Amino acid sequence: MKPKQSIPKHLRYTVSQFNQEFPHDDACLEYIKEERWPDGITQCEKCGVERKHHRVTGRTAYACQSCGTHIYPLAGTIFEKSTTPLKTWFYAMYLMGSTRCGISAKQIQRETGVTYKTAWRMFKQIRSLLSEGDMQLEGSTIEMDETYMGGKRRGQRGRPYRADPIHRPVVGMVERGGRKRVRAFVANDVTKKSLHGFAKEFVMPSSTIYTDELPAYNGLDKEHGYVHRRINHSAGVYVQGDVHTNTIEGFWSLVKRGIGGVYHSVSAKYLQAYLDEYCFRYNRREMGNQQFRAILERVSERAS
Ligand SMILES: [Zn+2]
Repeated sequence: MKPKQSIPKHLRYTVSQFNQEFPHDDACLEYIKEERWPDGITQCEKCGVERKHHRVTGRTAYACQSCGTHIYPLAGTIFEKSTTPLKTWFYAMYLMGSTRCGISAKQIQRETGVTYKTAWRMFKQIRSLLSEGDMQLEGSTIEMDETYMGGKRRGQRGRPYRADPIHRPVVGMVERGGRKRVRAFVANDVTKKSLHGFAKEFVMPSSTIYTDELPAYNGLDKEHGYVHRRINHSAGVYVQGDVHTNTIEGFWSLVKRGIGGVYHSVSAKYLQAYLDEYCFRYNRREMGNQQFRAILERVSERAS
């Protein structure tokens, strides 16, 4: 199944625009250099002379015009030890950031022509950059919800059977207004202790939290000072004025459609990485097809 392209027209950055901006590996290297030294490499690390650095032909390096010392923009990045062309990396990132439903290593293999093993390795390394770390949600209204994910779906509709060992509980929180960012985590369980733990870690004090009627959410108000509103799903009520969890449920169905359409199932081991990838894309959806730029930013930030 081909993932559905649902990027609004004004946010679309096409493959041909991509190829125009990044016609070859050199253009990619230049991009990374500019990302890591936004004001240019001006002062030489060795001789200290303020000189322009020029590109060294045949190497992924720039050299000081005064003493010739080389600077390697790929040093310490995920690209450093790779023999895969930079443009292929960039294109894989472009692909991963271009679809709401996610793509598989198999699709990267097909679209870039690298071997499956290489595609899988690139895929894993790109994904490892996508976690939002300890980013806290802001905004006064947060929807929080729990669900189960991981294994094959048992049918088109409804919750999977909870005791199914391949299904893991997942907890999510999303900003209702403002930037509408989301965080989602594989949880050990959905006890009060773990749900309250997620709220305390990622939701600002004094926010309003909307949840369903699960008793484990009890006490978010009295014990932690949140304003807590809940919707009684078991009584068939899904929206009561402002009180609903439709935003986070929309996110869950996006993720589950992705698992169903792209992977069929996701093992517990990869579920968190999978969630990270979805959150990353969801939180940057206003970038349209240019999310690869945010991924490249991560490459630079994580360079050792
Ligand atoms: Zn120098």
